[in-house]
Amino acid sequence: MLYIRNLSKTFATGDTALTDVSLDIPKGQIVGLIGPSGAGKSTLIRCINRLVEPTSGSISLGDVELTQIGARALRHQRRRIGMIFQEYSLVERLTVMENVLSGRLGYVSFLRSWSRRFPPEDVERAFRLLDRVGLYDKANNRADALSGGQRQRVGIARALAQDPELLLVDEPTASLDPKTSRQIMRLITEICAERRLPAIVNIHDVPLAQQFMQRLVGLQAGRIVFDGPPEALNEKTLTTIYGEEDWKPDRETHEPSQEVLAG
Ligand code: ADP
Repeated sequence: MLYIRNLSKTFATGDTALTDVSLDIPKGQIVGLIGPSGAGKSTLIRCINRLVEPTSGSISLGDVELTQIGARALRHQRRRIGMIFQEYSLVERLTVMENVLSGRLGYVSFLRSWSRRFPPEDVERAFRLLDRVGLYDKANNRADALSGGQRQRVGIARALAQDPELLLVDEPTASLDPKTSRQIMRLITEICAERRLPAIVNIHDVPLAQQFMQRLVGLQAGRIVFDGPPEALNEKTLTTIYGEEDWKPDRETHEPSQEVLAG
């Protein structure tokens, strides 16, 4: 479904973010990208929709080679790729419904989109999506009146509005509390399973990745150093990805100090 072969990226600054990355993701599989800051996770995600131009290598979605196409074809291909971002990137002054419909912009004519009028079937579909993410009754609320978790639900519905064949998810829970993070990860994984959507999720929280991902890919200094199921992550593999650290959970019991007992 998504085939990445020998992908490398060196920026004009001379920084190499990716070296010889190869990765296949079949339909319906969710892959969690883990690795320390600066490992190349965002660059990998951005190369796939060519927000970052790869230096070499190939990326194909189905039978379309994404690295070889021109601007016009790229606009068309980007409709096949849904993006969910850390900061939601909603249009604050617009309603929830309008934000979700903006996911359809690639499909409606310029004049219609400019006047923000959408075909009734798009509106119907948007309502179904809002229902799926639990925001049906918030359709007319302004985006800036929502909580972080609700905003990310709008981001998910918007990405789905374009009927993507691949989801790219960049740190979806970075601004959320632990409980909301779990709810959002659960929603994303359930939706991918329902639609047999392949997804790459850049996720910095290892326990969250282990809980929700079927497959984890560990990047370290731009190279894949781990690729396997969450159960295969252990002290040794974590050290390969993140470097030396004591990976055992801290089980030390913190006895109250003498002063507290005395007080
Ligand atoms: P991660 O998402 O894992 O934190 P990034 O993909 O953001 O890692 O960055 C990987 C490497 O590429 C880092 O060394 C970073 O400094 C570098 N890098 C990322 N974006 C740019 C850019 N626009 N220009 C130059 N270097 C960049």
